[in-house]
Amino acid sequence: MKQAVPSVKLLINGEFVESHSQQWRDIINPATQEVLARVPMATAGEVEAAVASAKTAFASWKKTPIGSRARIFLKYQQLIREHMKELAALLTAEQGKTLADAEGDIFRGLEVVEHAASIGNLQLGEYAENVAGGVDTYTVQQPLGVCAGITPFNFPAMIPLWMFPMAIATGNTFVLKPSEQDPMVTMRLVELALQAGIPAGVLNVVHGGEAVVNAICDHPDIKAISFVGSSRVGTHVYHRASLAGKRVQCMMGAKNHAIVLPDANKEQALNQLTGAAFGAAGQRCMALSVAVLVGEARSWIPDLVAKAKSLRVGAGKDNPDLGPLISCAARERVSSLINQGVAEGAVLELDGREVQVDGYPDGNFVGPSIFSGVSTDMAIYQQEIFGPVLCLLAVDTLEEAIAIINANPNGNGTAIFTQSGAAARRFQEDIDVGQVGINVPIPVPVPLFSFTGSRGSKLGDLGPYGKQVILFYTQTKTVTSRWFDDEASSGKVHTTISL
Ligand code: NAD
Repeated sequence: MKQAVPSVKLLINGEFVESHSQQWRDIINPATQEVLARVPMATAGEVEAAVASAKTAFASWKKTPIGSRARIFLKYQQLIREHMKELAALLTAEQGKTLADAEGDIFRGLEVVEHAASIGNLQLGEYAENVAGGVDTYTVQQPLGVCAGITPFNFPAMIPLWMFPMAIATGNTFVLKPSEQDPMVTMRLVELALQAGIPAGVLNVVHGGEAVVNAICDHPDIKAISFVGSSRVGTHVYHRASLAGKRVQCMMGAKNHAIVLPDANKEQALNQLTGAAFGAAGQRCMALSVAVLVGEARSWIPDLVAKAKSLRVGAGKDNPDLGPLISCAARERVSSLINQGVAEGAVLELDGREVQVDGYPDGNFVGPSIFSGVSTDMAIYQQEIFGPVLCLLAVDTLEEAIAIINANPNGNGTAIFTQSGAAARRFQEDIDVGQVGINVPIPVPVPLFSFTGSRGSKLGDLGPYGKQVILFYTQTKTVTSRWFDDEASSGKVHTTISL
C-alpha cells in the first residue's frame, strides 16, 4: 500500500500542530521529483495564534537571565553537531545541493548559534560617569518584543539560523516563516531548538507564501522583520512592513562580479572562480556570476571552460560537484535565459542545457554554462540568473572593471584575483560593494562580523548577525540619573534643565 505523504506542522505555543488550511503544496525532491511531504499555507487564524503566543511568552522571556538564555544556545550548538549528518541528508533531499554543501549550509548557521551562546558579551550597554556633577548616563539594550523572519529556499538551515537564535538570545520572541519550497530541515532545526530548552511560545513557525508574509508585515504586534530572498519580494516586504511602523532588514538579490587581473595566480584564480560560479548550482546570493577579465587574463577562457567542463553534475546525495536546481520552474527559467543570451549575441562557450545524469532522468539539472562576449545591456548580465551560468566580460584596465561593477545596481559581494597589493588596495577602497574578497571568492563574513551587502542588494541599515544584529533586535534605552546625597543641595529648587 502507498504510504501517505507526511505533512509539515506549524509550531504554535510549543506544540507542533496540523494546519487546518485548505491550501497545501508539495515538497519535491529536485533530483527525482518524489513528493517528500506537504506544507500548508497557514490560515489567518493560525498566524494570529502564533503571534499571540509569541506576545504572551515575551512577558517572561525578556526577564529571563542572560546566562540562562546563553546556556540554551550552548546546548543547541551541541545538538546541531550531533545531528549534522541527519540534517544534511534531509536538506539534500528537499533542496538538492550536495551533501558536502548541505553540511556547509548547516555549519554556517551553527556558527551563528555559537555566537548567540556568547550573548553575555554582546548585549552590553555603555556608562558615562559625571556627565554633569553627580549625574551619570548609561544605556541598556532592551529586546523589542515579537520579531519575525522570512527566509528563502537556497540556505534552509543557515538563514533561519541567522535569525531566530540572535533574536531570541537578545530576549525577543519569534515567528519564523520558512521557505515553502524546503521547510523540512528548518523544522528539524526548530525541533532541536525546543529540545535545547527554548520555552513554549518563544519560537513559533508558520508556513505559507504571499498571504502569510503580508499578514506578518501588517501585524501590529510584530515589532521587527528580518527578510532574506529576492529583490522583488524584499522590496515589497520592506515597504509594506515599514509603513506598518516596523523595523525591517532585507537581504536581497545579487549579481556578484570578480575581477581577474593578469598577474593573478592563474591556477588558484580559475579554481576559485569555477567553484564560486557553479557550486550549489549557482543558487547562492554570493555566487560569482560575472567575471571581468582584465588585459591578458582574457586568454584564460579555454582553461576556465576546461575546468568547468570537468565538474560532475548529479544528485546531491551522491556528492557530485553540483546538484539540481530547486524546481522545474527554476530549470526552465535558467534555460530560457541561456537561450536569450545566445539570441542577444553572447558566445556560449559551454552549454549546460542538455546535461544528462545517469539514473536521474527527471532531475532539474543544468550543467555549468559559460558565456563570453557579454555586454552590460544583455538580459544575462542584467538579471540574477540564480543558476550555474557564468558571464565573462573583457576590459583593458582595473579602472574600467571597477567602473562596471560600480555601475551595476547590486552590491552584495565582489572579489579580485591579483598578486598586486597596490591593485587590491585600490579595489578595496574604490569598489562600491558591501562585501569584498581579495583572492577570496565568496567573502561571506563569519559571525564575529555582520553580513554587509549594500545598495540594491539590501534595504535597511543593519545586517544579520554580528554586532549589527544586536542593535537591530534591541532598543537602546538611555538613562540619565542623579542621586542626592548632600543635604544642602537637596533643598535647592532647580529651575533650569541645563546639566
Ligand atoms: P523569494 O523572494 O521568492 O522568497 C523568499 C521568501 O518570500 C519566501 O519565504 C517566500 O515564501 C516569500 N515570498 C515569495 N513570493 C512572495 C510574494 N509575492 N509576496 C510575499 N512573500 C513572498 O526568494 P527565493 O527564490 O526563495 O530565494 C532566492 C533569492 O534570495 C535570490 O534572489 C537570492 O539572491 C536571494 N538571497 C539573498 C541573500 C542575501 O543575503 N542577500 C541570501 C540568500 C538568498
